Amino acid sequence: MAPARVTMDGVQDAGTGEDREQTHPNRAEPVEERGPQRGAGRFAPSPTSELHLGNLRTALLAWLFARAEGLRFVVRIEDLDRERVRAAPHVADHQLRDLAELGLDWDGEVVRQSERVDLYRECAGTLAGYECFCTRREIAQASSAPHDGQRAYPGTCSQLSEQQRAVLRASRHPAWRVRANGAQFTIHDRFAQTFSTRVDDFVLFRNDGQPSYNLAVVVDDAAQGVTQVTRGADLLSSSPRQAWLTNRLGAPIPEYAHVGLVRDSTGRRLAKRTRDLDLRAMHDLGMATAQVVRLLCASAGLPVCSTPRELLDAVRGTDMLQRAGLAQDWILGPDALPAGALAQPVHSP
Ligand SMILES: [Zn+2]
Repeated sequence: MAPARVTMDGVQDAGTGEDREQTHPNRAEPVEERGPQRGAGRFAPSPTSELHLGNLRTALLAWLFARAEGLRFVVRIEDLDRERVRAAPHVADHQLRDLAELGLDWDGEVVRQSERVDLYRECAGTLAGYECFCTRREIAQASSAPHDGQRAYPGTCSQLSEQQRAVLRASRHPAWRVRANGAQFTIHDRFAQTFSTRVDDFVLFRNDGQPSYNLAVVVDDAAQGVTQVTRGADLLSSSPRQAWLTNRLGAPIPEYAHVGLVRDSTGRRLAKRTRDLDLRAMHDLGMATAQVVRLLCASAGLPVCSTPRELLDAVRGTDMLQRAGLAQDWILGPDALPAGALAQPVHSP
């Protein structure tokens, strides 16, 4: 257990807002005026492609959920995939520019995962784990069919002797897996209510020496005091693993809000790399920033406003941010955008 480690960069927030409510039930100050210790929501893009309408919609909702509850809002650049990041220079700057242009403000410095590998290594070092020499193919052959897109690791390397490991090390670089001992973990989601899965011995460090997504996200959310995780519904299935790891690191488990994805009229998800539907492309089609905000509001069934601030004022004190419709996918039909916007295929292969 290492709660001190995950808060070592000074962004300490071991207690959640809930804890403080219990300690000070009669406090009268408005939530906005609570100290810097209050919890946070976050948006954490990978700088491998420009933010498309679906990403912008998730960012708007993440900002809205956080601000409506008086939380801080932090932005983190998830740039661990160095090869893909190098192949797309300046994308992180564009993403921050687009968020600011939309009217989404954030608190504190933007955190970049590529600068924090030592912290991830330190946190992983506090957890029981073991070397895994399996190739992808070996794992696929030894495990059952993927469940919700995730293939549970069957534990093949968990019982290797020191001698067996020494032999394997001579020919392969091992990954490092956490020992979860078959834990079952349940998370609370704003829309899905509860979601539960068995936690497998997932990878903390890959065999190329890079920290895994699951490890980095958990360490950073804990270090940044994140108490509310809003993101696309495709990540719901990885939440129990991450919440379990959060718990093992001694940090408070955040509330999750998995929101709908954007699909084309055939039901396919927007391709991550499409350039057709980012903010610049919308401007090229004659849509001003305020029109894009209005489109995003309408897509989520929220009051149609021209700025996030206006939207925040419109939903404050209502139950609109609890409605299940926010977890539903946005089907981007041909009439949603100016003519020409959907001329190119916008779906994933
Ligand atoms: Zn293995």
